[in-house]
Amino acid sequence: MRLSPTLSTALLAVAEACRVARTVQHELAAVKTLTKEDLSPVTVADFAAQAVVCLRLHAGLGSFDLVGEESAGELRETSGDAMNNAVTRAVRDIWPEISEGRVHDAIDFGNHDASAESYWTLDPVDGTKGFLRGGQYAISLALIERGQVVAGVLGCPNLGQDFARSFNDPDPVGTLFYATRDGGAWSLAATDTADRAQRIHVANGRPITDLRMCESVESGHSRLDSAHQIRTRLRITGEPARLDSQCKYAVVARGQADAYLRLPTRHDYVEKIWDHAAGALIATEAGAKVTDIHGKALDFSTGTGLTANRGVLCASASHHAALLDAIAALED
Ligand code: AMP
Ligand code: MG
Repeated sequence: MRLSPTLSTALLAVAEACRVARTVQHELAAVKTLTKEDLSPVTVADFAAQAVVCLRLHAGLGSFDLVGEESAGELRETSGDAMNNAVTRAVRDIWPEISEGRVHDAIDFGNHDASAESYWTLDPVDGTKGFLRGGQYAISLALIERGQVVAGVLGCPNLGQDFARSFNDPDPVGTLFYATRDGGAWSLAATDTADRAQRIHVANGRPITDLRMCESVESGHSRLDSAHQIRTRLRITGEPARLDSQCKYAVVARGQADAYLRLPTRHDYVEKIWDHAAGALIATEAGAKVTDIHGKALDFSTGTGLTANRGVLCASASHHAALLDAIAALED
């Protein structure tokens, strides 16, 4: 498939950020001993990945608006400290000559507030817990136009092409996923070029009792006990796969699992656009139905939070209705 300049820039940006995050993760032990301060490797990766994505978008597209999870405020206040040095060093893997000040400026390209007609949203390291335990995490970049996600790229550095590999066993290569609205969903090895991408599709036709679910590792992010009750009600026998980050959307999109359930743990939690935009588009374009737990389409027109939605249900079209009913029955 021939990619538009916008999509190929986004894909390159995420591939580069995957490389940076992976390097930081592998140097985790070394980074930890850099200083006696609490220098969290996930923080280094977060800042560096956001800088790298913004620098590539800037080089490829000129000006743009981006809602990113990070901002450089704290880094600017502590110029020259161990954290700043670690971040700049990580970014230099892609941009060898870059200065600390330019890294700050790049991170702050992500300070947009979602008010523009067209903007990007980025989670530089989605699934920070997965990053820290050497499990799954994702670099997630999406383009939102007039409240609709029109393009999404997910970089999953620890997710391999082999479905038999445990999610807790980091793949040495990683996988990229991308989708455009009405253009299908695609996947490729993280080191491949876009011409080697393969179209991906959800699995269909499995009896509901054989349904394979996936969910968060963190019980604070999704009600795992309620998900268990839903499986019992539907007589689903298999155990769910647990993995961090939007890799769950990708796993459903490529037919490795049939459903991803995110059941709110708190009344007041509002899901963030950068935690769903890319993953939801990729799953939808692969043939999944993605809604909130009341069956309402995810509404990306409400700013940085999905204030019109509660939780997420992403499932193959043939199983979505049954899961929705089971969630409703649970809530009664
Ligand atoms: P996951 O890896 O799927 O468990 O989700 C990771 C994401 O959960 C992070 O990027 C956070 O933004 C988000 N998160 C943080 N607190 C909550 C919460 N109380 N409920 C749902 N998601 C949350
Ligand atoms: Mg996140």
